[in-house]
Amino acid sequence: VNEPAFEGPSILAPNSKTTFVAVTSGKGGVGKSTVSVNLATTLARLGKNVGIIDADIYGFSVPDMMGIEERPKVIADRIYPVERFGVKVISMGFFVEDNAPVIWRGPMLGKMLNQFFTEVEWGDLDYLVLDLPPGTGDVALDLHTMLPHSKEILVTTPHATAAFVAARAGTMAIKTHHEILGVVENMAYFESRVTGEKEYVFGSGGGERLTEELKTELLGQIPLGQPDLNKDDFAPSIYAADHPIGDIYAQIAKRVID
Ligand code: ADP
Repeated sequence: VNEPAFEGPSILAPNSKTTFVAVTSGKGGVGKSTVSVNLATTLARLGKNVGIIDADIYGFSVPDMMGIEERPKVIADRIYPVERFGVKVISMGFFVEDNAPVIWRGPMLGKMLNQFFTEVEWGDLDYLVLDLPPGTGDVALDLHTMLPHSKEILVTTPHATAAFVAARAGTMAIKTHHEILGVVENMAYFESRVTGEKEYVFGSGGGERLTEELKTELLGQIPLGQPDLNKDDFAPSIYAADHPIGDIYAQIAKRVID
């Protein structure tokens, strides 16, 4: 395979102003991808130039969550990301046929990730959000060691067990020299539309406990809730700015910018 000849400006260049924001979790299903896509769209809403890499190799879901049907264009060996909600998007899912299972091993993953950094026309990004695989397995570890210096966000549910496994993922981030920016507690509570009362259906305290354990801060608590179906620009997992959860993401994005 020929190595790309391109050596132009890159988000990896030492003088690049791009901040890498890696989002991970201890286990799957806690909302890591949901947080990644909403953080990216919210940063774009706040006027930032934003890209997202869906690096959750085995569980890529970003295109579906953002309602993307098109594929990136490849012109003269350069990949042009798909743009949605003002965010430039690249996903493993764009490069596999018909949702086929992915069976890559470490070296191939590294090559793919490197291509995403060097062969994609990102332009001048302020933030590149990375939706990482969950957990502390080989793939997550490989990706952590290959990543440029990143600020990492850990997503957990309020359940004590979820927070416990997330702590291990946080420890891995620290060992691979990434900086922990903070914790997002997702599915934190259910708020009754009738009484406004909060029900802690998945327990409570997980986010706080994880924050203490990793000596970091709680960036936000996101309740259970669906995006508004009746929006013109609906995507299955994107909360609009005027949705109560959109407002919480705005607070989290501001903490990322500070
Ligand atoms: P992960 O990336 O951790 O595997 P996802 O972001 O794919 O998790 O979320 C898992 C499922 O939970 C998805 O169906 C998603 O739409 C849903 N979900 C995530 N966060 C919330 C929330 N705050 N309220 C309701 N559903 C949510």
